[in-house]
Formats: sequence, structure tokens, C-alpha cells
Amino acid sequence: MAAEVAPGVYVATAGMYTTTTTVVAGDDGGCLLIDPAVTVADLAALAAWLSGRGLRPVAAWSTHPHWDHLLWSNALGAAPRYATARAVAAVARDEARLIGAVEEEAPGHDLSLFARVEPLIGHEIDWPGPRALIYAHDAHAPGHGAVFLPDSGVLVTGDMCSDVEIPLLDLESADPFRGYREGLALLADVPCVRVVVPGHGHVARDHEFHRRIAADLAYLDAVQAGDDIDDARLTGAWLRAEHARQTAFTRRAPERRPG
Ligand SMILES: [Zn+2]
Repeated sequence: MAAEVAPGVYVATAGMYTTTTTVVAGDDGGCLLIDPAVTVADLAALAAWLSGRGLRPVAAWSTHPHWDHLLWSNALGAAPRYATARAVAAVARDEARLIGAVEEEAPGHDLSLFARVEPLIGHEIDWPGPRALIYAHDAHAPGHGAVFLPDSGVLVTGDMCSDVEIPLLDLESADPFRGYREGLALLADVPCVRVVVPGHGHVARDHEFHRRIAADLAYLDAVQAGDDIDDARLTGAWLRAEHARQTAFTRRAPERRPG
């Protein structure tokens, strides 16, 4: 079910929104589970795949406080689940809306297990396995935390650096474009990235990482300048609708344009 993208690092891809789940194998059959998603059937298949390989989650990470990155099931066990402190605060503020989104988009989950994340202290997940460093920023969602595995060079970006989705800005934040640029800059500076796992889309290797960052910056530049956009990712109706919202936002807030 899941592809091994680096030694001991596996990525499963769900049909819905091309959503990825990342599994990092650790010591003694333990694993770190990042963003398990997305439907009830997907999580059941994930749990079965894990047990078939003798893996059991001993820690979990939610990259950001959006419903499709906060899911869990009983079969995944009772590992501690972490997110950044800002993400945990956003979950608390937004819980009713998040639960509404789960019920509408992927009904049937045990909601008592939904979004039960606790704030990570520090910038590294303390677990018995490969080092997992957190790079936190506020692009796309408050307290968005990418996970970098320095041993294998894998960067799990959450909803950034996608080949199928345009940059989706957090339009409720104080300065969405600036926040997004700062997040991209932070990720671009992570040293020795060899494999990138976006939350939605396909795994990238080597130069493709920086090509995606450049494509995201070009998108932001064009939206802020009011230029026509020629972006291959602008295909589905929902992405076009998000693009229209982002374009309308810059028209309402021209003082936020650069220069
Ligand atoms: Zn998201």
C-alpha cells in the first residue's frame, strides 16, 4: 500500500485529494506516523498495512490544524500525537468547524479521537527512531510544522510544495502573502533535502524541490501583481475557486502588494 521513498520511510497516498500519509520506521517495531489520512477505509487499510509489517505507532505528528491532517482511528493505538503549540491553539479555537468538515468530507470517523494533539515542546520529536526535526511557520495554516529527517534527507512538508495544488493561503492571518513567503523561505533553507513529501500530491526528489518552491513564489508574485496566472496546477473547480478568493483578497488589500 505504501511506497518506500527512503530507507525506512514509507508514503501511502489516498485517492481523496491525493493525500499522503508518512510512516517512519523506528526501533523495535515502533513507528512515527505523520498525518494519517483520510477516509475511514484509508485508515483501516493503513492500520492493516502497519500490522502486516510489524509496525506500531509510538508517536504521531499533525503537520497543521486542518481536518484532513488531524485524523486517527482506534486501530492505530494510543500513541502520543503532537503538533506545534500554535497548531494546537488553532484546533481549540476551530474545533466545531473542523469536526463539521470531517463529517461532511469523510464521515464515519470516531470523533472522540479526532484532533487529540498535544503541543510539542522544543523543535524535535522525542521518539525511539530517526531524528525528526520540526520546521514551524505560519504559511497556509497557523503553526504549520514540516518534519525533516536528517538521516534520510526526507522533508515532509504538510500542505506546501505540492505539484497538484497551488499555494493556498491562510486568508484569516494578519499578512497571508508575507506569511506564505516566510514559510517557503524557511523550507527552502532546510539543508540536504533529498526527498520531499507534500501533504497532497507526489513525492519529489532533488532539484524538483527547488523547482516547486520557485513555482510557488511565481504564483504568489503573479497574484500579488494582478497578473494573469499560467499555472499547470489550476485545474479542478475547487482550486480555481480558491484562486479566485486569493485574487479577490489582493484586490481588496492593494497595500499588501510588494513595492
Ligand atoms: Zn491544509
